[in-house]
Amino acid sequence: MTANIHDFDGPRAPGGRLGHATGLSCRECGKTVELGPHYACEDCFGPLEVRYDYPRLTRADIESGPRNIWRYAPLLPVPADVARRPTTEPGCTRLVRADSLARELGMRKLWIKDDRDNPTHSFKDRVVAVALVAATEMGFKVLACPSTGNLANAVAAAAARAGVRSVVLVPADLEPQKILTTAVYGGTFITVDGTYDDVNRLASELAGEHDDWAFVNVNVRPYYAEGSKTLGFEIAEQLGWRLPEQIVVPVASGAQLVKVDKGFREFVSLGLVPGASWRAFGAQASGCAPVSAAFAAGHDVVRPVRPSTIAKSLAIGNPADGPYALDVARRTGGAIADVSDEEIVDSIKLLARTEGIFGETAGGVTVGVLRKLLSSGQLDPEAETVIINSGDGLKTLDAVAPAVTVPAAIRPTLEAFEEAGTR
Ligand SMILES: *Cc1c(COP(=O)(O)O)cnc(C)c1O
Ligand SMILES: [Zn+2]
Repeated sequence: MTANIHDFDGPRAPGGRLGHATGLSCRECGKTVELGPHYACEDCFGPLEVRYDYPRLTRADIESGPRNIWRYAPLLPVPADVARRPTTEPGCTRLVRADSLARELGMRKLWIKDDRDNPTHSFKDRVVAVALVAATEMGFKVLACPSTGNLANAVAAAAARAGVRSVVLVPADLEPQKILTTAVYGGTFITVDGTYDDVNRLASELAGEHDDWAFVNVNVRPYYAEGSKTLGFEIAEQLGWRLPEQIVVPVASGAQLVKVDKGFREFVSLGLVPGASWRAFGAQASGCAPVSAAFAAGHDVVRPVRPSTIAKSLAIGNPADGPYALDVARRTGGAIADVSDEEIVDSIKLLARTEGIFGETAGGVTVGVLRKLLSSGQLDPEAETVIINSGDGLKTLDAVAPAVTVPAAIRPTLEAFEEAGTR
């Protein structure tokens, strides 16, 4: 756990302006604190989580909301008028029935939650939108992040749209597509010689220096992480107000997996979906699989690793929510597993060939782990399953380029066509 607690003189407690959120509580010792720019427990350094006084909410209330994540605003730490703020309005991405991939894998019923449909083409737009609004309410002036790429895109875009300054830090060896698609939005953009974990440490130091900088995944992390619940909410709503039996989620910090599960539990306890049991599975790349390794060894703690994988968006060697992701997988009877870079590329191609969906490397990781756990018998091919494609293949072209054959040009004649076609 990071032991850096920085309280800010600048930013303030948001009063009653974060909707139904009532406070923060420590995920380790349960100590509660008032809402504000806090992220670690002052007693035990455990991470803090948003608590709510849950409102009464009906399916009709949600269905009459906007076609983006703000339809779930009563279950997020944001003001009631959030839909009128300038945000990138992520969410309501398609849930695609994947019969052809299911057939190939011998599954009965498979769905893909395709989060390429978000404004900067990854699920990170969800968490950033929530962080931006909460941070603004708390008086922060700058939106910042350390990033493995997709978060950089999402922060730079959301800040541009809201007219807020951004400061984005990434490892210099990121995919060129993710560098360019961050730089285009303007803002302060820094590439760092080091791993993501080095960049993350630097961000924590900067957060201590600059009172009014909201590092979305560091000092406003409790608010940011809540945005991932909307993936779970949407899946339940799109399935016709019920939950899938199995879900496979990519794991970097582990927050997405933890919060999809939290979203499912909130919907059940609010009576929005029938009570049901689901099994949650996490997917990592073998070149950065600290949570998968801890799962296999039966450990509760996650030993940090130095990442080396083409799945750079998942390359967090010291994952903040790793222990909680382990809890979710174990509590629900799921698992966390990993696949090699070769299997990732193969799975990207499988998803493209069967469903016409070009996922990024994280999508390849998820499909790869789906395949692996089906063949090991840990996933049930008869159970209704949802997998998350969290990003866009156009941002990780170099990962697949060596494995895709691009044809040479022909002369524009019938003969040349025949020759090419029969070669
Ligand atoms: C960040 C990211 C994830 C994982 O998110 P965590 O909540 O940190 O586990 C998954 N897929 C993509 C494409 C991402 O960019
Ligand atoms: Zn504590």
